[in-house]
Amino acid sequence: MEKAHTAEHILMASIKRIAPEAAAVKVMHDEKGNTLYLRIKKLDWDIVAEAVKAANRVIDEGRAVKEWFFESLEDAKKTLPNLRSYDERVTGRVRVIEVEGYDYSACARKHVSNTKECGFIIVTGFSRSGGDLYQIRFEVGGRAKEYAADIIALHMKISEALGAPQKTVLNATLNLKQEAEDLRRRLANLTRYMLEHLNPEELYGTKVYTNLYRGVDRKALMDCAGELISSVKTVALLADAQKDALVVLCRSKDLTFDCSLLLKEVLQEFGGRGGGKPEYSTGSVPSKAAEQVLGTLKWKVKELLAKV
Ligand SMILES: [Zn+2]
Repeated sequence: MEKAHTAEHILMASIKRIAPEAAAVKVMHDEKGNTLYLRIKKLDWDIVAEAVKAANRVIDEGRAVKEWFFESLEDAKKTLPNLRSYDERVTGRVRVIEVEGYDYSACARKHVSNTKECGFIIVTGFSRSGGDLYQIRFEVGGRAKEYAADIIALHMKISEALGAPQKTVLNATLNLKQEAEDLRRRLANLTRYMLEHLNPEELYGTKVYTNLYRGVDRKALMDCAGELISSVKTVALLADAQKDALVVLCRSKDLTFDCSLLLKEVLQEFGGRGGGKPEYSTGSVPSKAAEQVLGTLKWKVKELLAKV
């Protein structure tokens, strides 16, 4: 606790050297770890890495940690212009903790007497709580060293999985992400193209669009089905079989049968499930049953259209 807390003074002072406007708001230490709440314009991993390296240099230098007392915060600030304090919380006699020649901070908690006792500090994560308020999670000593070893191993496993040298892991990942986005967009375009060229079958004066696809973009498929039924006397019965099969059954508003009831009933028969609204419903079923499901649904739709 004293180690983690003293290391926090050093870390915060190191952040302040990079971002002078930064100010600590609160520090918490518990069995889950340590959290430093601070205000800073912008925090990123480059700033964190610089601050952590500087903090560990100060820890290794074995600087003395001393205490000073002043009658008031005003007095303290006159003597120590660089004093850090969370002003609103400090009243009356003030205790100042000095990390020899590196940092002066008003604080009432317990500290170690030499920075070497902190051993090692590492930031394990940070997040923005809103505005310029951030929280930084950190570990010190043995726990920090174990964390570092685990994270390096994880990083190397990612590098191996990507087949990219460890220095290029970030770029390789960003490229991969970009590529995946491009492919998804192209698949969505292809899906749209295929659906735009799907010819309906005329059943009792109603256009029925039916097809079983394998590996299309499902969102595009559902969107297109929705667009198809904006014309009158139209039914769309479409499926996409991948690991499981997505089945969409929808109809134009002028028709009256309940797609949701019909889909639910047929999918259940084949070990799937589904539902939705009377005019637009979706569901899933094991892929191997997709063809049969579509056949059954089409036959039932035909029956219903014949009755009208
Ligand atoms: Zn303190």
